[in-house]
Amino acid sequence: MTFSLTLQDIKPVTHDTYQLTFDRPDGFNFEVGQATHFALDQSGWRDEDRAFTMTSLPGDSDKLEFVIKSYPSHDGVTERIPALQPGAQVIAEEPAGAITDHGPGTFIAGGAGITPFIAILRSHAQKGAMDCHLIFANETEKDIILKDEFDAMEGLKTSYLVSDQNDTDHTAGRPDKDMLSSLVTDFDQTFYVCGPQKMVDAVRDALKELGASEDKIITEEGW
Ligand SMILES: Cc1cc2nc3c(=O)[nH]c(=O)nc-3n(C[C@H](O)[C@H](O)[C@H](O)COP(=O)(O)OP(=O)(O)OC[C@H]3O[C@@H](n4cnc5c(N)ncnc54)[C@H](O)[C@@H]3O)c2cc1C
Repeated sequence: MTFSLTLQDIKPVTHDTYQLTFDRPDGFNFEVGQATHFALDQSGWRDEDRAFTMTSLPGDSDKLEFVIKSYPSHDGVTERIPALQPGAQVIAEEPAGAITDHGPGTFIAGGAGITPFIAILRSHAQKGAMDCHLIFANETEKDIILKDEFDAMEGLKTSYLVSDQNDTDHTAGRPDKDMLSSLVTDFDQTFYVCGPQKMVDAVRDALKELGASEDKIITEEGW
C-alpha cells in the first residue's frame, strides 16, 4: 500500500539539512524510530524512492515530520529537496525499520543518522525521566542537526564529536574505540548506532571489543 503525502512546510535546520512537515494520511501507522521509503511525485522521479525516518511521534495525529540532509553532489532525490514548495507531493510506502525504542541507552549517530534518534529521544523526553547519552559525530560544528533541541532535553547527556574542524569547542575526533572508552563507562547497556554503513560497522566492532553484547546493539543495516 502507498500513501500520498502533501508538504505543509519546509525549513532549513542546518546549512544542508531541512525539516519537512507533511499532512498525515489515515492508516500511516509506525513505531518511533521507523522509516518509510518515499519518492517525489514528479515526472522522472516516481521510481526513485529513498528511505527517510519519521522524526515526529506516532501520537502526532496532525503531521508527519522528516529531517533530510541534501546532497547536491549526488544528483539524487535529496538534491531536489531544498526546491520543494508547500503543496508538493511524495509517494510513501508502509513504514518499516529495525531501529525502534528499546529503552534508555547510549545513542551513537553520524550525520543524518541522527534521524531515528530524534524521534526516540523526543519520545523519552515527552515521557520524562530520561536517562540517555547521545554521542553525535559530525564533520564540522555547522553540521550538527537540532543541537539546541538536544541540549534542552532534561536527562540527556550530550557529547558532540567534530572530525574535520580544528577550532572547535566540542570534542575533536571520531567515535572510534579510544573515544568510546573515554566517553562511556558502562558497556552493559543498550547501544543504538546509526549513520553511514562504515561508521556503523566500525562502532559495532569497537563496542563489542569494549564489552558490549551484540544483542544490545541496535542498528539499521543499509543506511
Ligand atoms: C532506514 C534508513 C533511513 C534513512 N533516513 C534518512 C533520514 O531520515 N534523513 C536523511 O537525510 N537520510 C536518510 N537516509 C538516507 C537516504 O535514504 C538516502 O540514501 C540519502 O539521503 C542519499 O540519497 P540521494 O538520492 O541524495 O543520493 P543517492 O541515492 O545516495 O545517490 C544518487 C546518485 O548520486 C551519486 N552518488 C552517490 N554517492 C555519492 C557521493 N558520495 N559523491 C558523489 N556522488 C554520489 C551516484 O551516482 C548515485 O547513483 C536513510 C537511509 C536508511 C537506509
